[in-house]
Amino acid sequence: MAEKVVIIGSGPAGWTAAIYAARANLQPLVFEGAINDKNQSQGTLPLGQLNLTTEVENYPGTPTGDTRAYLASALKGDRIPYWVQKNKPQPSHGTNGPELMELMRQQAVNFETRIITDDIASVNFKTHPFQLHSLGGQTVEALSVIVATGARANYLGLPSEDRFKNQGVSACAVCDGALPRFRNKPLVVIGGGDSAIEEATYLTKFANPVYLVHRRHELRASKIMQKRAFDNPKMVIKWNRALEEVIGTDEGGVTGARLKSTVDSATEELAATGVFLAIGHTPNTDFLAGQLQLDSAGYVVWTKPQRTMTSVEGVFASGDVADSYYRQAVTAAGTGCMSAIDADHFLAHHGHEQSMAAE
Ligand code: NAP
Repeated sequence: MAEKVVIIGSGPAGWTAAIYAARANLQPLVFEGAINDKNQSQGTLPLGQLNLTTEVENYPGTPTGDTRAYLASALKGDRIPYWVQKNKPQPSHGTNGPELMELMRQQAVNFETRIITDDIASVNFKTHPFQLHSLGGQTVEALSVIVATGARANYLGLPSEDRFKNQGVSACAVCDGALPRFRNKPLVVIGGGDSAIEEATYLTKFANPVYLVHRRHELRASKIMQKRAFDNPKMVIKWNRALEEVIGTDEGGVTGARLKSTVDSATEELAATGVFLAIGHTPNTDFLAGQLQLDSAGYVVWTKPQRTMTSVEGVFASGDVADSYYRQAVTAAGTGCMSAIDADHFLAHHGHEQSMAAE
């Protein structure tokens, strides 16, 4: 029998859609993503990008405070973070990304959301019920689908970058920053947006100095993040520079970075044990090729203003996969809610069981 709604993706959009769909009696099924090497290396494991970050200071409802007791009571068994289970000190405050994602997941589970830990590898939206094929070989039929697969960090595409991935080149400071190779050594972060400042700030906990390499003479980051960079004595900003090559050896990995000027022909070499990329994102829409309207950058196109409809009736999109502009956890959660309500209305309209969506 076809599922009423299948949600693909497990970031803030996916779990919020699941919570709303479950409470609307749609018995949602979530494909949260596969745990495999490819997803590990490209940053697309279950729980999304927030699971790769540290403190979340701008998600409303998570102010400063020790959330330990709350986490212990809200989460089950081995999903409780180790620092809560082992009562380890946490430098954090409020909540952090992985905690917030576990809480969202648990909230969806509390309303009987079913979860499959696998990727959807391909879809057929040309037939109804829609057909979804998982990486593990499962086929699921769905009356409606919510695409909430988010986006992933970009790399520059240099051969030397590829060569030293997992040997000093990374796009996730939180995943890799605490590695011994970076301790008290110089590091390079590429980019000038909020992510670059966030990653570089985090890395100053371990490394010194952290060079922030930006191709212009003005940061794109928000003013508060810029101030954080300018005030941090361990951060050195290299203006008007681009990464030309990651330097290193097969045995020891990254030993430095060669930069080129973006305003003249100068080059410069920095000694560094790591190079972190923070240069924007690519939407996770490969599995949708030819099935849904995508924009030139690959983001799903919303076809109605203020709605989460896509080019296929009954398929909705929420979160970063359809948003190249705001890309915030809270906006992703907001559109996740919208997509569940839109799916509920679609199902009601087409004679499928309806319940109250906008409670
Ligand atoms: P972003 O704002 O698009 O910034 C990307 C940065 O990478 C820009 O500075 C860009 O340079 C640079 N860049 C892009 N392609 C490059 C290339 N080929 N070579 C060199 N540099 C390149 O992306 P983001 O920082 O990931 O942020 C995405 C969204 O998430 C934003 O809305 C941001 O506010 C939000 N965010 C918020 C927080 C927070 O509030 N704490 C944290 C992280 C992210 P140019 O400036 O020259 O274009």
